[in-house]
Amino acid sequence: MTILQKVKNFVRARSIHVAYVDVGSCNGCDIEVLACLSPRYDIEQYGIFVHNNPREADILLVIGAFTPGWEEKLRGLWEKIPPPKAAIAIGNCPISGCLFARPRTLVDPPVAKHIPIAAQVPGCPPRPTEIISAILAVAPTVFEDYEVKAK
Ligand code: SF4
Repeated sequence: MTILQKVKNFVRARSIHVAYVDVGSCNGCDIEVLACLSPRYDIEQYGIFVHNNPREADILLVIGAFTPGWEEKLRGLWEKIPPPKAAIAIGNCPISGCLFARPRTLVDPPVAKHIPIAAQVPGCPPRPTEIISAILAVAPTVFEDYEVKAK
């Protein structure tokens, strides 16, 4: 492995940029993601930074049962994120539709049908610690030795 690759591995493990998108939720999971920023959970101590510019993101958190209006928007957002990248489904909604998956509703879960999902965090809603753990678990598999793997 080159020195440059070693430096990239070191930096990427401590600088994970996360964007999030709500494709039709009750806001419960959004609140848990925002709680990750609070002093109690302090997501930045793990080298994870939340902002919402997809062009600068590494990991996309997807929240909510998929609603039809997101068909093109979600894929467009995913394509704006430069590789290496990963998406994580947060909560039961993007996994199964949760309480929104009922007869005669328009939701179309799972989100994995629409963009590649690297990990799922079940729960209604999941805890901030579970969200942070998932990000830390996915990041090394996506970023480590990315250039070497891409060859
Ligand atoms: S999983 Fe539960 S808390 Fe999260 S958005 Fe869906 S209904 Fe709300």
